[in-house]
Amino acid sequence: MHLLNADLHSHSNVSDGTLSPQALAQRAHAQGVELWALTDHDELGGLAAARETALDLGMGFLTGCEISVSFAGETVHVVGLGFDAGNAALAAGLAGIRSGRRERARRMGEALAAAGIPGAFEGALRHVGNPDLVSRTHFARWLVEAGHFAETHEVFRHYLASGKPGHVPHDWARLGDAVRWITEAGGVAVIAHPARYRFSPSAEYALFSEFVAHGGRGVEVVTGSHTAAEQLQYADTALEFGLLASRGSDFHSPAESRVDLGTLPDLPGRLTPVWGALAARVQRA
Ligand code: AMP
Ligand code: MN
Ligand code: MN
Ligand code: MN
Repeated sequence: MHLLNADLHSHSNVSDGTLSPQALAQRAHAQGVELWALTDHDELGGLAAARETALDLGMGFLTGCEISVSFAGETVHVVGLGFDAGNAALAAGLAGIRSGRRERARRMGEALAAAGIPGAFEGALRHVGNPDLVSRTHFARWLVEAGHFAETHEVFRHYLASGKPGHVPHDWARLGDAVRWITEAGGVAVIAHPARYRFSPSAEYALFSEFVAHGGRGVEVVTGSHTAAEQLQYADTALEFGLLASRGSDFHSPAESRVDLGTLPDLPGRLTPVWGALAARVQRA
């Protein structure tokens, strides 16, 4: 049986990817993706161009975004899929999140200067495609360009991860708000890459319980940031909490991303794919 090649998590240069929405759509199509979602961080600005290119290529398209949330002292990412991109409350919620990013980036520049790396704020700004969306990734790219490190993962490990000298704690959206913005705009909320959070078992249980209580319906099981063992673990979590399962590469850049668009394994057969619930939201030519 042919299983749908769905890739429902990827980033353009409207957030911290390096390709334009059009180039990303072309790459997804060339990689055999049949149903694609652009999920830029806290931003919907790339969706119209992404949609137009996807439909021109005959590829199914879902609107998407990846919302930054603070939960129990950790940053959690909630992916929204298939929402109405013109929804005013969702747009306002995302604008609120973005508004804190610039000042956070300025403080990151100060923290890095104090740690012996001056000029990082200005350097990071040279890498942004969207002045409203300065991300740690842009700092990492500048530190690589400036010769401090060979690759961006190293920059995170030494300077940008939580607790490291260039990390500035930040309050993102509340879990319930993010889920409601997505759901009330007609979309489905999905917990992104759950294995990446450093929760205790009880904090993780609280995350999934509260997520479901707020109306969240999905979890990423097969993602570019899960090992095979983590896929099996979160397949069990999906069944335990009655969640739909999603699949997405989390592709950011040809030079940086380990996993290309459309190349992940299929979802384990015992799960219910999230795209089944989104059939009426898929846009086609
Ligand atoms: P921000 O939203 O500014 O905190 O940036 C978060 C982004 O940084 C994530 O979406 C990833 O793209 C990237 N990131 C986080 N951790 C790492 C890591 N260890 N290596 C490379 N990129 C990372
Ligand atoms: Mn990112
Ligand atoms: Mn993420
Ligand atoms: Mn992502």
